[in-house]
Amino acid sequence: MRLFNSLSRKIEEFHPLDPSQTRIYSCGPTVYNDAHIGNLRAYVFTDTLRRTLNWKGRAVQHVINITDVGHMTSDQDEGEDKMELASQKMARDIWQIADHFTRAFKNDLLRLNILRPTLWSTATDHIHDMIAFARVLERAGATYELESGLYFDTTRVPDYGILSLTPQEGQTEGARVERVEGKRNPSDFAIWRKSSATAQRQMEWWSPWGPGAPGWHLECSVMSMKYLGTRFDIHTGGIDHREIHHCNEIAQNQAYTQQSHSGANWWMHNNFLIDRTGKMSKSKGEFLTLSSLVARGIHPLAFRLFALSTHYRSELEFSIDTLAGQLIRLKRLVGAVSALRRKVEPAAWMRVPAEIGFSSGASFSWPRSILERDLPAAGQTLLDHFERELIEDLMIPRALPLLDETLNHATLPPEAKLRILASMDLVLGLKLLTLQRSDLSLRPERAELSVTEVETLMTQRQQARRAKDFATADQVRNRLNAAGVELMDGQEPAWEWRPILE
Ligand code: AMP
Ligand code: ZN
Repeated sequence: MRLFNSLSRKIEEFHPLDPSQTRIYSCGPTVYNDAHIGNLRAYVFTDTLRRTLNWKGRAVQHVINITDVGHMTSDQDEGEDKMELASQKMARDIWQIADHFTRAFKNDLLRLNILRPTLWSTATDHIHDMIAFARVLERAGATYELESGLYFDTTRVPDYGILSLTPQEGQTEGARVERVEGKRNPSDFAIWRKSSATAQRQMEWWSPWGPGAPGWHLECSVMSMKYLGTRFDIHTGGIDHREIHHCNEIAQNQAYTQQSHSGANWWMHNNFLIDRTGKMSKSKGEFLTLSSLVARGIHPLAFRLFALSTHYRSELEFSIDTLAGQLIRLKRLVGAVSALRRKVEPAAWMRVPAEIGFSSGASFSWPRSILERDLPAAGQTLLDHFERELIEDLMIPRALPLLDETLNHATLPPEAKLRILASMDLVLGLKLLTLQRSDLSLRPERAELSVTEVETLMTQRQQARRAKDFATADQVRNRLNAAGVELMDGQEPAWEWRPILE
């Protein structure tokens, strides 16, 4: 398998450190707000990485963290703590906010059929580990203390900023936030922030440097190394993390281990989801959540298909029309798979375990070998092609058309087609084998007609067409379209609620 490594900026042959287990750490969300669909793109990406490794027969240990303290309004670690700020704005207890948005995030991942990580690790559960880690950095002479906190001296490690594509001298500190008095270098960052004497923090802990809270970069170094070891395989995040957060993690890892190794062998970054105004971000105030898509009639798995349709290293341009197109594509795929299932003797299909899919544990059980047993040569060719695309830096967009090729194949028997599609879906996670078309039709909240009214109009239209009264038939169709109903002549079902486009 070959994967792009942001460290070398090249696609390299991937070998896990331990052949029996690949260890992956993914930077998790800061839980001061709902995740937007750009954030969710990041986890669809790590999920395809993980599923591809599983599909290739590798067990994966996957840690995702929850940042519930320490992330400041500027990635360079200055400004205000995002959680404390949200608590003031929403007039809610900070722990309630963390709990609420952590649940909301996990629920989003579930709806997107993203495998549960083997471990969720929450920053505030690791404060003592962080203090111990910071003490090691202090003893190694990599830090200095100021009135505001304990700072990491980025000149103390070789190649600081090796991941970043922005020249380090170009990183203008303090553009939007006040400069920190006494900081030695613009790129230095706080690993422990002392509570101010005037403003009380809701989240603060005792430390050798006084009461305060840990820095965001410290959290990820501590939790990744605690659970995956000082050397692990892959660290993921969005490309914004490549510029600062991951550079700082690497610096801390190097100072902690006293080695030049960055901690993870592979650093992998997904590109942004953008809209007309640029990168989607929570701090802009306006952003799209998965729930807001669902309210428009877009099924979460249509978003998953949309995210899979662009390679993870390219920008993904959001438009509701494209997303609606992916919903139609998914409905078509699910409809075609259901039609295949109807053709196959249940007894034949029963040979495939009902519960297909990877388990979420470190070990996994999957029936790929059962699914692919004794396939006709044409079927094996399709799967070989699928695999070639996956193992070349997860070229999922080029693997997706193979679903249609399989469905439309002239000679493969339906039962073989089903098994091939089931195998491919282990990686794609679109639930092609278990969804019904009707599951994908979410009724938009603002539909004006009831189902009975739609059915009555559908019958009227049919009668008008039979009587060759096309003027009336068109009128009824327009009425239905205006109410958000999509007509699908000659198909079953004959109509669906259309997503609301705006
Ligand atoms: P945050 O909650 O801001 O820490 O972000 C969680 C994850 O989403 C990180 O891996 C970010 O790099 C990633 N991310 C943030 N914005 C976007 C975006 N617009 N498109 C893709 N990934 C993003
Ligand atoms: Zn992180």
